[in-house]
Amino acid sequence: MAVFEKLVIANRGEIALRILRACHSMGIKTVAVHSTVDRNLKHVALADEAVCIGPAPGTESYLNVPAIIAATEVTDAVAVHPGYGFLAENADFAERVEKSGFVFIGPRPETIRLMGDKVSAIEAMLDAGVPCVPGSDGALTGDMAENHAIARRIGYPVIIKAAAGGGGRGMRVVHTEAHLSNALQLTQQEAQTTFGDGTIYMEKFLENPRHVEVQVMADQHGNAIHLAERDCSTQRRHQKVIEEAPAPGITPEQRAEIGGVCVEACKRIGYRGAGTFEFLYDGGRFYFIEMNTRIQVEHPVSELITGVDLIKEQIRVAAGEKLSYTQDDIVVRGHAIECRINAEDPETFMPCPGTVNGFHVPGGPGIRVDSHIYDSYTVPPNYDSMIGKLIAHGEDRETAIARMRMALDEMVLNGIKTNIPLHKWLLLDPGFIKGGFNIHYLEKRLKDRASE
Ligand code: ADP
Repeated sequence: MAVFEKLVIANRGEIALRILRACHSMGIKTVAVHSTVDRNLKHVALADEAVCIGPAPGTESYLNVPAIIAATEVTDAVAVHPGYGFLAENADFAERVEKSGFVFIGPRPETIRLMGDKVSAIEAMLDAGVPCVPGSDGALTGDMAENHAIARRIGYPVIIKAAAGGGGRGMRVVHTEAHLSNALQLTQQEAQTTFGDGTIYMEKFLENPRHVEVQVMADQHGNAIHLAERDCSTQRRHQKVIEEAPAPGITPEQRAEIGGVCVEACKRIGYRGAGTFEFLYDGGRFYFIEMNTRIQVEHPVSELITGVDLIKEQIRVAAGEKLSYTQDDIVVRGHAIECRINAEDPETFMPCPGTVNGFHVPGGPGIRVDSHIYDSYTVPPNYDSMIGKLIAHGEDRETAIARMRMALDEMVLNGIKTNIPLHKWLLLDPGFIKGGFNIHYLEKRLKDRASE
């Protein structure tokens, strides 16, 4: 018997298709909810049922809570999978789903709320023994003398961040004492207008860190495991471009140690489902910055090195099942790399929606393509420009890179501009091949390239 009879996929694009595949492999029937421009999405055609929930703008469709709840009711579905983005980290939505008598595939609403506020998240993590960036360890007050003292104690440069911030917004770096008061005021005002919450806090600004994150999974019976780490330091404007697992240079001992800390924290806060602890890694040490209480775009690299189907496991634990794995079952095998394929100009990074005219998917050993596009599919201008993910796995990093290069060369995607040329260039870059670079690496190389 399937763990759920029928599930609503409250998302679009590649993740909606990924969830549909997990459901069908588990014998779960699917309901695709979609906007008017998304009638032609691949998962809409493959789902057992489809319900149009509103016009193209996300605010009127994929963020339209009453429409999604109504679609769940009329189709007699029992659970809702939010994917990532849209309502995935919206505690009010999770609560509405549960109050309406359905299962939300994710943590408890209180956990989403706790980790969604960066100040309460840091407080909870410090409490659970997770290493955090040296900082104010709580919200700042209007007492400027005290704020100056905190900054002096931490040491410049410092970064002021909005408790409610997200998507790389609501942050300001301060290099000298003379600029602190002004920066505090500006960030506080911006936080109030952008997020409706003026709470701010302060951290040491780490100048050249790597982004390393730990994947966790927990059930409702007090069990939790980690599934190693991912390195997502290849970023542009705080957006991840390439992700890999495991993180180059992290030893099995370090993995076991930081993973163990995350598992303990999950148990401490009563976490359930899939989650990610994001860290800045600097000078051989991990510093927690935030937790994502959902499945992430880059989850396939963890799946390929551990052999665990994270979406299936996420659905199973939401249904109340015990984890299918103990920590000892999780063994890291080889190396995996993911390239995010975006419909954008590879030089200017401007989104380039349009119609696909010629599409050939690469293949062969160790290649996985997670994408909803097909020949003649039209990428609408209304949503994120990511149109798929190309993932390569091999016995070591070198093999994974070699397979990724072949796959990028094999891939044919005509009619729209994509960042495939950027990936081909990066996969031949000596610094990328070496690995272990910091979060500024890609932007620095792009700058070098522009001046060459
Ligand atoms: P968001 O929720 O907006 O993504 P994060 O807290 O995850 O915000 O930070 C986003 C990015 O900002 C990080 O990946 C890193 O590049 C940079 N950043 C955040 N905090 C610091 C810090 N203390 N030192 C250096 N860089 C930081």
